Amino acid sequence: MPRILVVEDEKNILELVRYNLEREGYQAITALDGVQGLELAQSQDPDLIVLDVMLPEMNGLEVCQKLRHSAQTKNIPIVMLSARAEELDRVRGLEMGADDYVTKPFSPRELVARINARLRSAGCGEKRKAKESGQAHLRLGCITIDEERLNVYANGINQELTLKEFELLRFMASRPGMVFPREQLFNQIWGFDHTGDSRIVDVHVRLIRQKLGHLPGGEQMIEPVRGVGYRFKTNVPKMG
Ligand code: CA
Repeated sequence: MPRILVVEDEKNILELVRYNLEREGYQAITALDGVQGLELAQSQDPDLIVLDVMLPEMNGLEVCQKLRHSAQTKNIPIVMLSARAEELDRVRGLEMGADDYVTKPFSPRELVARINARLRSAGCGEKRKAKESGQAHLRLGCITIDEERLNVYANGINQELTLKEFELLRFMASRPGMVFPREQLFNQIWGFDHTGDSRIVDVHVRLIRQKLGHLPGGEQMIEPVRGVGYRFKTNVPKMG
């Protein structure tokens, strides 16, 4: 089921778009401002983004530009939404790397038709299939993250991570070099509903380091970022 991120601060429009996407068989995730939209684009790996131009925190043009400058998000199709009066933004949106443009007021049917067309040309179905079957392994230097067995191997030897340790490592390792605040890691792995506190992240990072400590660079594979959280190293050494 293709996943669509909708970034729109007008709740009635957001709900209308969500309703129509779900009816079409898409999974919809939503954000009410630009900053949250950017975060979800990075953490949820959507197949397409519907992005309003006028947004609080960070406007849609800026979000679009940032998405295009990040290796992780630069290929996600973007359909921008804007009021008819903002003709200038239409041109700028396309300059910033948007793939298509729908002006308000729009018919949901037209928006869905454009989304379908964008997804078809992006070969979305095939991409996700490949992701699910073929690329079940993530290789980083000396370690292999096996997404099917939920194990981490080094030189073919299982490093015996617990499920939470595995999920934490996989999440960070899928975006090497990116700094993740403790709170974000906590919410991502343990969930918003979990009654606990984000220090559990520190505990798990310490356990992962102990388990990987015997590998070249294993202790430093997950680097602390002072006062913020952690990041996974971009250059993990290969087996010596
Ligand atoms: Ca708006």
